[in-house]
Amino acid sequence: MGRRIAFISEHASPLAALGGTDAGGQNVYVGEVARQLAHKGYQIDIFTRRDEKKLPKVVIFSDMIRIVHVDAGPAEDIPKETLLQYMPAFTSDMLQFIQEEQLSYELVHANFFMSALVAMDIKAALDIPFVVTFHALGHIRRIHQGNNDAFPEERIAIEERAVREASLIIAECPQDRDDLINYYHAPVDKITIIPCGVNTEEFYPLNKSVARSLLKLSQDERILLQLGRMVPRKGVDNVIVALSKLKFRDLRMKLLIVGGDADTVNELHRLRSLAEELNVSERVVFVGQKEREELKYYYAAADLFITTPWYEPFGITPLEAMACGTPVIGSNVGGIKFSVLEGKTGALVPPKDADALAAKINSLLRSPVRLREMSANAVRRINKLFTWELVAQDMQAVYEKIIGRSRVVYAKNSGKGERLSL
Ligand code: UDP
Repeated sequence: MGRRIAFISEHASPLAALGGTDAGGQNVYVGEVARQLAHKGYQIDIFTRRDEKKLPKVVIFSDMIRIVHVDAGPAEDIPKETLLQYMPAFTSDMLQFIQEEQLSYELVHANFFMSALVAMDIKAALDIPFVVTFHALGHIRRIHQGNNDAFPEERIAIEERAVREASLIIAECPQDRDDLINYYHAPVDKITIIPCGVNTEEFYPLNKSVARSLLKLSQDERILLQLGRMVPRKGVDNVIVALSKLKFRDLRMKLLIVGGDADTVNELHRLRSLAEELNVSERVVFVGQKEREELKYYYAAADLFITTPWYEPFGITPLEAMACGTPVIGSNVGGIKFSVLEGKTGALVPPKDADALAAKINSLLRSPVRLREMSANAVRRINKLFTWELVAQDMQAVYEKIIGRSRVVYAKNSGKGERLSL
């Protein structure tokens, strides 16, 4: 029997449809990390909030992974900014499940600050150590979103407490680590950098013209792709403004925008109006939300993938693009400046700077040889550094360090005073 680990991901379930306001990278992360750890023999229960009445209490995700739907607040989709009030109910329902099933977890992996709050209460009740991946930090969101940040004030104090109480903190990139140190006074030796990954069975290089034929896209246009959640901080408006600054005399060009659902109609409306205002609506195609299996064709069909958020804790979409052999122009922030290598796998530009973006698009689209080199470099970089298998190897090392450590404490407490064999 493998080690039993509990994942908590209060708002982000691996079963959710992606691309709306609140379902994105964290959902992918939790599902993929669990899947890879299951291959290594861990038994994983993923605790996530029941956001639909008809969801069963337990869903078997694979033979080693269960998804446990926790009753906490209304069984419907509600914005993550309003969920903190339901976390005490989350903890008690989770504790009840653990007791009823007589489960004993060796470790809890909390995802996001509200899950960290639950993990701290579970630790107090059952003495199970926890690690945390914050996915995003309240301080950083406040800096960039100011009054538009609707998370409760307590978020930052909860994150500070979690930094103190966690056995280890997973930072997703060097910027995330620096933010944890500078804004949360996290001790450097308590942080391990483990990036996000990409599923290379899902995203891989494909022939561009085949992908275009499948998607019924023109073979002789330049295609720029933007894919992700349609929320203002992703800076999709910046890409539209950059497009309006490009000279088209000798280049036929389209910008495809994939993502967005009923939750994000306001943002989509804003983006459409902007494209109209700037007279580029004929060149911007709002593709909408697409099935995950189709995304690789969009990445492969594009000459360039563009993502210019204001800030980015990690950013999985640039990895997916690179895995499909598509060079990336990204903001020089957060995880993107870690995953995209300037001049090698794409280019980095300052966020909110449409002139800089337009200049980069222009120069790269006019250098097909460089684009081909970047494409090959991108695929190599992904396979070397950013697969979920590699992420899980690092995660396993972290888990085993903590489980080993807590067993030593247990051994000492039980009078043996020596490390138990693992
Ligand atoms: N995604 C998707 N469909 C969409 C939009 C996004 O499947 O319509 C996926 C995307 O492929 C990626 C994830 O959602 O795997 C977004 O992760 P990222 O880290 O880039 O951004 P986040 O959503 O976490 O801010």
